[in-house]
Amino acid sequence: MEVGESSGARLSEEEIWAKLVPPDSRYSEVNIRSDEILVCSEIRSSSADKQEWCKISRNSDLCTATMQNVSSHTILVNETVVHDEDTIVIKCGTEIIPGPDREGYLSYRFKVMPSPEICKKKLNISVDVEHAKCSICLNIWHDVVTVAPCLHNFCNGCFSEWLRRSQEKHSSVLCPQCRAVVQFVGRNHFLHNIAEDILETDSSLKRSDEEVALLDCYAMIRSNLVIRSGKSLPRKRAHLLVDEESDDIDLPCPQCGTELEGFHCNQNTVHLQCQACGGMMPSRTDISVPQHCLGCDRAFCGAYWNAQRLTRSNFHPVCSSETFKPISDCSISRIPEAVHEKNQHEQDITKRCIIRMGRTLQDVVSDWIAKFNNREIDRTRMPLNHAEMITAATYFCNDCYDKLVSFLLYWFRISIPKDLLPPDASKREDCWYGYACRTQHHNEDHARKRNHVCRPTRGINM
Ligand SMILES: [Zn+2]
Ligand SMILES: [Zn+2]
Ligand SMILES: [Zn+2]
Ligand SMILES: [Zn+2]
Ligand SMILES: [Zn+2]
Ligand SMILES: [Zn+2]
Repeated sequence: MEVGESSGARLSEEEIWAKLVPPDSRYSEVNIRSDEILVCSEIRSSSADKQEWCKISRNSDLCTATMQNVSSHTILVNETVVHDEDTIVIKCGTEIIPGPDREGYLSYRFKVMPSPEICKKKLNISVDVEHAKCSICLNIWHDVVTVAPCLHNFCNGCFSEWLRRSQEKHSSVLCPQCRAVVQFVGRNHFLHNIAEDILETDSSLKRSDEEVALLDCYAMIRSNLVIRSGKSLPRKRAHLLVDEESDDIDLPCPQCGTELEGFHCNQNTVHLQCQACGGMMPSRTDISVPQHCLGCDRAFCGAYWNAQRLTRSNFHPVCSSETFKPISDCSISRIPEAVHEKNQHEQDITKRCIIRMGRTLQDVVSDWIAKFNNREIDRTRMPLNHAEMITAATYFCNDCYDKLVSFLLYWFRISIPKDLLPPDASKREDCWYGYACRTQHHNEDHARKRNHVCRPTRGINM
């Protein structure tokens, strides 16, 4: 604890967060800097003698304090008598008389300083240092930049170097942390301050001056920047990565500025971001081609740009029409990973059944899509949105198509009489927990010895 002197008595690096303000300028203000002080000041109106008369401790809400009377007589706080050693909560505006009576004693006002600077300094935000590290160099961020849309953070120098190398080799820049396509990068001033504070608190985390200088010379992100994709950027443009002063306007999508199929975007056009490539497309209500996958409600651009007769762009990511098309147009050559709850023994049995029937996976899936389209299949357990609205003509993303195939292959397997399964499979008993069994995921032997393509008869309410 420190002893709080009247104003001017000492200089502290800590800022004044509150004051005890006397009735007039004949007496001095008590500046409160630390979180707990013993106040020593004038208490009587007739004497300049200073006495220790109270302790003030800042409360965790940062705007109130707890005052303890240490004067050996009572004091008055907002007309309330506070006995020796007792405490009372005070807040901005509280009147404090450091004696038993108004007569003969000063009256102080407790004043909390409004400066946001102080709030910033004093707010004890706890940050896990591990969360303030760059995943490229594993140090605390230096000149931190944030990439979008995934919002991961890196040192400016580290990410700039990554960006330079990516653009030499690839048509798009992927986030070094999560591999999402990076569309924008900008310096993050808020996180910069946090990183600075961390280094101030723990200087062992600081890097050497040489390292910092090296990072700074790699750093090329000066202002927010839109990253264009496209290998065949003209040479000059490819080097205009950081075009703060350039007149070049960054347009979100191929139809901003260029008319395609009688449409171009204007300032009011809302853009959707494609889940597959990260590129933008205008949100359209005047066309019939879907821009969202019905199974997952996510936006995909493949069908849209196909309808706008755009197959590629030098400056924007564009998906091929293969990535988003009607279910009936999709083709399949291998069993998706998720089939039969990822139980590979069951997948193998299904494969062998198809071969024994002299058919292909594509034949079977097409048959079952037809049955599905004719509403011959119960859709209640189908793991897709808008299950009742889906038809063979519905546009699906690849993930949703795989989910649909998994669902249909379950029904295909269920439809095969047990004695027509390969002999090793037909002899097995059903697992009580059926497809919902968890043991099949970690116990090979169990996964193989029991049939898991069946309904649970235990464990869950069916
Ligand atoms: Zn770094
Ligand atoms: Zn990321
Ligand atoms: Zn546009
Ligand atoms: Zn989907
Ligand atoms: Zn796309
Ligand atoms: Zn089981």
